[in-house]
Amino acid sequence: MNVLIINSGSSSIKYQLLEMPSAKIICLGTIERIGSTQAISTYKTDTHKVEKTYEIATHKSGLERITSLLLDTEMGVIDSTEEIDAIGHRVVHGGKDYVDTTLINEEVKQKIKSLSPLAPLHNPANLEGILMAEEIFESAKQIVVFDTAFHGTLPIKAKKYAVPNILFEEKRVQAYGFHGTSHKYVSEKANEYLGNKNTKLISIHLGNGCSITAIKDGKSIDHSMGFAPSNGLIMGTRSGEIDHSIIFYMVNTLGYSLDEVNELLNKKSGMLGLTGYNDLRDIEVEASKGNTDCILALEMNAYRIKKYIGAYTATMNGLDAIIFTAGIGENSSLIRQLVCKDMEYFNIHLDDAKNDLRASSLREINKKDSEIKILVIPTNEELEIAKQVYTLLT
Ligand code: AMP
Repeated sequence: MNVLIINSGSSSIKYQLLEMPSAKIICLGTIERIGSTQAISTYKTDTHKVEKTYEIATHKSGLERITSLLLDTEMGVIDSTEEIDAIGHRVVHGGKDYVDTTLINEEVKQKIKSLSPLAPLHNPANLEGILMAEEIFESAKQIVVFDTAFHGTLPIKAKKYAVPNILFEEKRVQAYGFHGTSHKYVSEKANEYLGNKNTKLISIHLGNGCSITAIKDGKSIDHSMGFAPSNGLIMGTRSGEIDHSIIFYMVNTLGYSLDEVNELLNKKSGMLGLTGYNDLRDIEVEASKGNTDCILALEMNAYRIKKYIGAYTATMNGLDAIIFTAGIGENSSLIRQLVCKDMEYFNIHLDDAKNDLRASSLREINKKDSEIKILVIPTNEELEIAKQVYTLLT
């Protein structure tokens, strides 16, 4: 069965075509920096590897580029779109109704659309991907895997907000949790590596979006994002946690409209708001040249992560390992070093030499005498989605 996975992020699309159940990768690639004139498109098969920079304005044009690569006469891997049996879509917000992997129908699409205000950077792009894929790959089964699914185990004390009960009971106001596919994948890998299922883990997903999860005995028990993928850590363009009074002050005193505040907190804040850059690679280069905004933003970013490590160690009453994953977590030795610095009290001791080594598979980067393991684990949301698609269809 040929399964194409489309994983749309806020400004990127990752894709993989896999032969299931063997999980053999037929081709894979990414489109990064969507919305810019310098979007980077990568494409890799057994015989070809290309990286090009184009102007890619929208997720829709990104998907068109991916389709033309798959069908390319020289580098392509299929002759016809009918060779794709199923498409697995990552959708960020499934709300309360959709937790399990689901075959897409009109009702599911309506639900994804209705949840767009809660995930404005993602659900519209996810839905656009589904609509485009239905048009292009007419004969393929379309399946959706929700980011919220892994967090179905959050205990009520962690997911309920201290607001009148009616909002939880009747209006579905609660923390849902995101990046579930990634946190599930890397925590299972960590447990395999540790040879133990009954572990206390902190999984730190740092990409364009950033989140952190406390995982006890394989289950998500607390998480930094909440009702929408906006709370918690400082992200590329999202503020993460702020005092909600600031929103009222901006509207009532500074004269912003609510839409403007929403746009500002989701698209113009985070590392972009602090430095003028949203890509950590640019920020690291600027910081190395002495840009003080960039140096401070990196420190603030790591400081926020440290606070969650402290909190989640307390809620689990212990810790076995912390996991770094996703674009920044896997690649930025600087962020890992800033996070793990001065954590001796928690028995977290980073080995700087191991931290600086690059590798594409799981690696342990703590010192030998560190009680807490520090693991870098490449996430593979696409493989996890493909497995779920295959299970659903068979
Ligand atoms: P993701 O959402 O997981 O694809 O992560 C994308 C983000 O990872 C980019 O916006 C960059 O900020 C960051 N990133 C990717 N490669 C590197 C790298 N080599 N060093 C630092 N950050 C990186």
